[in-house]
Amino acid sequence: MTVRVRFAPSPTGNLHIGGARTALYNYIFAKSQGGKYILRIEDTDKERSTKEFEASQLDDMKWLGLVHDEGPGIGGEYGPYHQIERLDIYMKYALDLVEQGKAFYDFCSDEDLEQMSLKSKEEGTPPYTGKWKESSTWDEAKARVAAGEKAPIRFLVSDKDVSFKDHVRGDVKFPKGMVGDFVIMRTNGVPTYNFCNVIDDHLHKITHVIRGEDHVNNTLRQVLVYEAIGADMPEFAHVSLLIGEDRQKLSKRHGATSVKQYREQGYLPEALVNYLCLLGWSHPDEKDIFKIENLKDVFSLSRFSKSHAIYDIEKLKWMNGQHIKAMDVDELLTRTSPFMTNDFYNQQTDDWKKTFLELYKEKITLFPDFNEKMDELLNESVEMTEDLKDILSWETTPAIRDHIKAELEKVSSDYVDTDAFSEWMNFCKKELKIKGKPLFMGLRGVLTGQNHGPDLKVLIPLTPVNILKKRVASL
Ligand code: GLU
Repeated sequence: MTVRVRFAPSPTGNLHIGGARTALYNYIFAKSQGGKYILRIEDTDKERSTKEFEASQLDDMKWLGLVHDEGPGIGGEYGPYHQIERLDIYMKYALDLVEQGKAFYDFCSDEDLEQMSLKSKEEGTPPYTGKWKESSTWDEAKARVAAGEKAPIRFLVSDKDVSFKDHVRGDVKFPKGMVGDFVIMRTNGVPTYNFCNVIDDHLHKITHVIRGEDHVNNTLRQVLVYEAIGADMPEFAHVSLLIGEDRQKLSKRHGATSVKQYREQGYLPEALVNYLCLLGWSHPDEKDIFKIENLKDVFSLSRFSKSHAIYDIEKLKWMNGQHIKAMDVDELLTRTSPFMTNDFYNQQTDDWKKTFLELYKEKITLFPDFNEKMDELLNESVEMTEDLKDILSWETTPAIRDHIKAELEKVSSDYVDTDAFSEWMNFCKKELKIKGKPLFMGLRGVLTGQNHGPDLKVLIPLTPVNILKKRVASL
């Protein structure tokens, strides 16, 4: 059996991080099984679906590296992959069910429906029970529809318990009576989600359905439809929901919820997928930093967790920082470039930029943070903090300051080279007899105004001499 999984987004908004996680699990599962990952666009909600949202979702998925094997833009044996182009197929299946007595045209008036709904609330019974199918026989119904009457088609729910096996939740059981005869085709010829989703999964030969736990109740109806059309059921894995730290369902209140927002803020796609992957799934070797392409041999449906996954932006940021740290400098140079807003930085040579990026990559969590580091590097004025006052009060510091000041005056180029800076240090050590903390803290205080920071031997040759001069002059 070739594993075939799908991600089936509705293009009614930007790609949500929960959706991205579902897409990711399907994608990795397909890769781990040598299977196919299919993208199907569930665009039957004509009011809310737009081509712009679809394009934006596709673009975000591509950015995350979740590229489908079959679907929009690529095609495949089982197309079309937009539900809106498959309406005839759903109608055919619905009419077959009507003919077999497993579904019926429902000619109830709105008042009838309302009455039924009231009655079901009062009696605690499921709404829209099958007796309403008696309102017309198949032949009568056909004639009424042929004469132009409009009626939805409802699925006739059988009076029995329903159960299915789930890779995350085990045996899921629904006692009979939980659901009334539900609409599968609306009067406008558009199917409902629970119907077309099953028809498509069947026709697309989907073997595993991996999706959010919020769909478990839908699965009850879907199992009934699978049985009615005589199709084999796929295997299910309903993964836990994402919740905020307040244990509420993840929403805008908890921060950015669309992939687009993270992308714009400068998060790395590999960090985002790494983080999303661990929200409800765990690595067999308990690794927390990895690349998705390395999961092929270890990913399995048995490592999903049943409990809700808490979304923690700080953890995501930390992971982003870890991926930046692990990045090679040439890649860093290319990938940071769209985020670097500092004009001075943009005018420097690639060598200068690489030295700067290497120097600060350990200290940042997001690419745009490099701009703040640039501001620090170009800061001309020195803030007289208590720490700096302390350093300046040591008896060794004035000699360092005077030496540095004199040496800076001699530099005719824009930067001090590394050797010259080493000589300055050696002079302080050998001639001024200053060493250890008084030397290093003294130099740092005098040249940067700070009492801690990155390696001076790299930082000082990277800082424009005119900036260094202004800092020292102000002490
Ligand atoms: N279009 C549905 C959604 O976006 C698909 C759910 C499913 O995977 O069955 O929630």
